[in-house]
Amino acid sequence: MSKTFEIAVFHGDGIGPEIMAPTLRLLKGLGHDFAFTDCPAGAASYLDCGFDLPDESLRRARRADAILLSALGDPKIRYPDGTEMTPQIDIRIALDLYAGVRPVRVVPGMRTPLALAPDAAIDFVLVRESTEGLFHTQGKGRVEADFAEETLRITRDTTTRVCDFAFRLAAARKADGHPGRVTSVDKANVFRAFAFWRDIFDRVAAGYPDLTADHAYVDAMALWMVQRPGSWDVMVTENMFGDILSDLGAGLMGGLGMAPSADIGDDHAVFQPCHGSAPDIAGRGIANPFAMILSAGMMLDWLGRRHDVPAMVADAGRLRDAVDACLAAGETTGDLGGTLNTEAAADAVMARL
Ligand code: ATP
Repeated sequence: MSKTFEIAVFHGDGIGPEIMAPTLRLLKGLGHDFAFTDCPAGAASYLDCGFDLPDESLRRARRADAILLSALGDPKIRYPDGTEMTPQIDIRIALDLYAGVRPVRVVPGMRTPLALAPDAAIDFVLVRESTEGLFHTQGKGRVEADFAEETLRITRDTTTRVCDFAFRLAAARKADGHPGRVTSVDKANVFRAFAFWRDIFDRVAAGYPDLTADHAYVDAMALWMVQRPGSWDVMVTENMFGDILSDLGAGLMGGLGMAPSADIGDDHAVFQPCHGSAPDIAGRGIANPFAMILSAGMMLDWLGRRHDVPAMVADAGRLRDAVDACLAAGETTGDLGGTLNTEAAADAVMARL
């Protein structure tokens, strides 16, 4: 008997529910055995019950086979101390989701600011370590009268796991025709902690003799991502560097509206669009659903490979191709220059499928 996959669904705030609804419809239409469980969280949940990540929602997420998370939060609704709630980061830490996967693909129809030749391909993946690095003291940094300090923490265990994740990803991509290359993005020329990172990267690389491993300094990589974005395959980097470079990657794709992501650990994984809850356009039905749909595609790929369901991996590819075809045909929402509303854009993807 085939397995039922339990999917924890965080509908989120603002445009979150508007892009989640058609994404779930698309997933249901694929015919896999999914059971979806709703998990309240975010600003609406905080107003409703006083918790932006209720224990029960985290329990459901922990129990699920995968977690689909839409945009959470509302800049207007904050904790009494004025800080914004970030349940998505709390989930990342609670479930040890150390590998932040940020694909950067530019296909015809995207509003890239780069002047690309029509046949130029940009297709690389940034893997951001997501549980330590310069975020180690997040919210607990030391502030004195005349100085402030935060701690950068790189551990052997997490660095080994995230580098290994990047090499496994490059190996899987190589099977699909990519070069099979992993680049460590660090600052090993200045900081001992990054020399430590690089040494671990090299040790992990030695276990993958069929793949190419190399290094780049983060400042140079910021330049090269713009000057020669077609040169990369998989990059792996520290948390803060990854935070910054992934927005640069989203910029290459024309903004956050097209950027999907995954946060993956050994036992759990969250799939969510990179953008926020866009309160400025919420309630109007005009949000672009593609980043959410592409994130759901990443979920299919991850689940299919993890549980050896080739049909699911194939559907992930079909979903991505369907979005690409819509982009190329101009079947898009207003942010990409199209005329479709959220539902119609998702229907266009369904029709292409
Ligand atoms: P956060 O800090 O919560 O990540 P943000 O400050 O990055 O949020 P977003 O909510 O992502 O802000 O919105 C930034 C801009 O992009 C807004 O003008 C918003 O309307 C637009 N935007 C974001 N997502 C979408 C989308 N899916 N479709 C259309 N426009 C979007």
